[in-house]
Amino acid sequence: MHHFLRINKPLTRLWDVLLPRRCYGCGELVAECGLCANCWTQLDTITWPCARCGRSFEMASLKGQTCLSCQKKAPPWRRARAVFFYRGIGRQLILQYKHGRRLDASAYYARLIAQAAQESLKECDIIVPVPLHWTRRIARGYNQAAELARALAKRTGLPTLNHALIRTRRTKPQFVSITHDKKYNTQQAYALRQRNVKDAFAITKKYQNTLKGKSVLLIDDLITSGATAEACTLALQHIGVRHVDIAALARVGKHLT
Ligand SMILES: [Zn+2]
Ligand SMILES: [Zn+2]
Repeated sequence: MHHFLRINKPLTRLWDVLLPRRCYGCGELVAECGLCANCWTQLDTITWPCARCGRSFEMASLKGQTCLSCQKKAPPWRRARAVFFYRGIGRQLILQYKHGRRLDASAYYARLIAQAAQESLKECDIIVPVPLHWTRRIARGYNQAAELARALAKRTGLPTLNHALIRTRRTKPQFVSITHDKKYNTQQAYALRQRNVKDAFAITKKYQNTLKGKSVLLIDDLITSGATAEACTLALQHIGVRHVDIAALARVGKHLT
């Protein structure tokens, strides 16, 4: 053991030379795994979320309050949190992750999610990822939400159930472009997405009893409109899940004004 400790340090240095740590954003060399200072400052992080939907207020004084749209119509989940907005470098990070080029960033991203969703992690019993349809998972080889859930479970010690929530049919990918398509206003785009994912999720029989009465933290890489999160929440509540919280790495949208 003593001998091992003595050689451990040079080995670490050798490891750094052979496999230097690079920023997940720009590829610059970094001392600690994650983002370089430059990429981090460019990231549009969500600091003061609405208590329910998690969209970001622009003023610190509004932190913990409920936004107007949630006051009008509350989402079915208890609270949703995301680390940063899906734009600029944030968009680039998500696209890289989705296409499997930076799956090594999972532990780092789980750390960011754990910070953004710390209240939820205290109150939830189990972590469940948003599923891909099995045909898509086979084609891609992995589910990025499940990778995040696994890393978060490892970090927190909470259990994760990977195959409890399933997609019962293949939905069209929730193209971000719908949101930006000038043809549709926000409500129309949301309605389209909602129709796309309606009844697309179910809980496998085998896990229904395990989940009944529990508080579930649902994990996704990206919240686009909230339609997927909503459909998953309703499916979980349908079999008796008590609370659903949502945590994602990024979300589409802008600061609440
Ligand atoms: Zn960088
Ligand atoms: Zn809100």
